[in-house]
Amino acid sequence: MLRKIHVSTTVTAALLTLAIPGPAAFAARASRGAQAPPSALERLKAGNARFVRDAAAPLPIDEASRQAQARGQSPFAIVLSCADSRVPPEVIFNAGLGEIFVVRTAGGVADQAVLASIEYAAEHLNASLLVVMGHDTCGAVKTAVESKAGGASMGPNLDALVGAIRPAFDHMSAPADGDHLRDAVLANVEQVVNDILTKSAIVKHLIGAGKLQAIGAYYEFATGRVRFSEAVRLSSEHASNSPAAHR
Ligand SMILES: [Zn+2]
Repeated sequence: MLRKIHVSTTVTAALLTLAIPGPAAFAARASRGAQAPPSALERLKAGNARFVRDAAAPLPIDEASRQAQARGQSPFAIVLSCADSRVPPEVIFNAGLGEIFVVRTAGGVADQAVLASIEYAAEHLNASLLVVMGHDTCGAVKTAVESKAGGASMGPNLDALVGAIRPAFDHMSAPADGDHLRDAVLANVEQVVNDILTKSAIVKHLIGAGKLQAIGAYYEFATGRVRFSEAVRLSSEHASNSPAAHR
């Protein structure tokens, strides 16, 4: 089951496909030879596989690693996820202290503070992977689906959040309603990825330079599994653009 990620007109270079592999493919990807050090994505997949096998698996946290983190951090991945209490990335990816740089907002909406956080982790902490993760029955996306622009106000802040999500539905082939919430969540993931690439010259440059990989993901409550899309690819034209002029 594939879902094409539409590309905003301002980021014509980005091409992302949310490929949702079946269980067999997932298992095949999770098992891997030891010839080379695991990539950041492989580390996340391996951590999620531990969580899937045993949701109560202890996190790889110990006194020595806690002490070591006092000297600094070098997370291998950035995860932008929903603030939903059921989707803590450190748990879902069975990650230890200092391993993943987590940014969370309702719906994973990327405002300026979120963009700055991602840029900091990517450029200054050298994280090599950015994951934008949606999830089953996302309340923020569901609220955006069920509410109407110009409808009853939920207050200025919630109105702004929902208003930021709603344009994602313009790219859905299915109706944006309660029966197609998964599609709506994936459309929101797609929009957030595009928003990051559109608004962060730093992130786009790092991806073009091969220093950062960006990828969409979807977390399923029933299985505990995280499904990953293909990585965002930039055209040579955009990849060669320097962000210097934007800094
Ligand atoms: Zn959510």
